[in-house]
Amino acid sequence: MIKVYNSRTRKKEVFKPRKGKKVNMFVCGITPYNSAHIGNLKTYLNYDIIARYLRLRGYTVFYLQNVTDIDDKIVNAARGADIHWKEIPDRYFAEFRSVGEKLHITGVSQYAYATDFIPAIIGQVARLIKKGYAYEANGSVYFEVKRFKDYGKLSGQNLAKLHKSVRLAEALRGFGRDEDPNKKHPYDFVLWKAREGMNEKYEPSWDSPWGKGRPGWHIEDTAISEHFFGPQYDLHGGAGELKFPHHEAEIAQQESASGKKPFVKYWVHTGVLTLAETKMSKSLGNVITGKEMVETHDPDAFRFLVASTHYRSPLPYSEKLYAQAKSNLEKIRDFTRRLKAVKQKSGKAFAVSGYTKKFFAAMDDDFNTPTALAVLFTLIRAANPLIEKKTLSAKSAKAILSFIKDGERVIGVPFINTISTQIPQEITALAEERNTLRKQGKWAEADALRARILEQGYLVKDTKDGFEIIPAGK
Ligand SMILES: [Zn+2]
Repeated sequence: MIKVYNSRTRKKEVFKPRKGKKVNMFVCGITPYNSAHIGNLKTYLNYDIIARYLRLRGYTVFYLQNVTDIDDKIVNAARGADIHWKEIPDRYFAEFRSVGEKLHITGVSQYAYATDFIPAIIGQVARLIKKGYAYEANGSVYFEVKRFKDYGKLSGQNLAKLHKSVRLAEALRGFGRDEDPNKKHPYDFVLWKAREGMNEKYEPSWDSPWGKGRPGWHIEDTAISEHFFGPQYDLHGGAGELKFPHHEAEIAQQESASGKKPFVKYWVHTGVLTLAETKMSKSLGNVITGKEMVETHDPDAFRFLVASTHYRSPLPYSEKLYAQAKSNLEKIRDFTRRLKAVKQKSGKAFAVSGYTKKFFAAMDDDFNTPTALAVLFTLIRAANPLIEKKTLSAKSAKAILSFIKDGERVIGVPFINTISTQIPQEITALAEERNTLRKQGKWAEADALRARILEQGYLVKDTKDGFEIIPAGK
């Protein structure tokens, strides 16, 4: 029995999808106007693990993610770089996917580009006007928030507070404009945005009953999810900071358009990744991009670090935490290498089932990956001495490996059959000796040492600041 924390009810609830074992899951995707940062990636890693786990537990998961490939930020980026608007989302989405691949993000069933769903978006906007929830003004269409009485329920807002927070949210999103004169109320939000008359190269537009324009941000999500899932579905995810106004707007749109409640059964939100005690934000400039992360760090260790924190908790990223995660991951890999070397037939029986139960109980409890990993480390501490004393049987070792295999499938980081990244001390010593010889100009001797190191399976690479040792053939 899986329990999930539902932001809508603010309670942990038994996970019961609307239709048996079928799960329709939607997660807010990126706006590819520049490189995704590691805070964005934390969110997608969190949902990748959730989707993996649900599948492992026998659910059929349709995991849908939108891609906001048209937005003010994209228009501005295209104008700034003087390139066709489409090049911006294409470039940064490709980068996002390539970083995602290195991080083993494989859970998404479909990525849906907003601009591929313009007719569905126009259809939903038209329905909202017809039902009296939206109004047109000068070619733009707005959702009239006061017509939807549940507005603010998810994030605990009320209309009195809204005026202030809408202005704040818009300012934080960098819109730099307080009020749109077309709006009846400052907290109304745009569903369809009239063309501003900029060059089509930077600002694309589509024909609509209200003239040429483009979709607002919130409407694309509900138009896309309705296209694939209908007006109601099981799980909606996203970063916690999207609760307001984005997710409130989604609820208002879809519940008004269909008249069916609730739009989403389980709202799931992730905690934010912070850097040096400041929230990572592109506008503040304190950003590590995903691309930088996978190029300068071990992507497996970064994924492992994310899994070492509960998805709802904030993750205060630091190099120290990263190094700790890398070393913990190496402990698991080291352990699996030792397990695989166990050959003796006789030995003490080792009860793996207790650990397996605890591991799954932790994951069932709102996808508690840190507790699940703690179970794995408890097992390692219990089994390691038996391997040392040669009292663990090959049969038990195999059973443990099969448990670790489950862990690997859930966490999504290879634990088994990996090459050791820990460099033996004697190899490091030889490489240092070689470095000294090079400094002294003794090239032949240095090369001979390099060959000796290579014979032992390691490659020495010279770098700007000295050298680097990597397992050969990796
Ligand atoms: Zn969204």
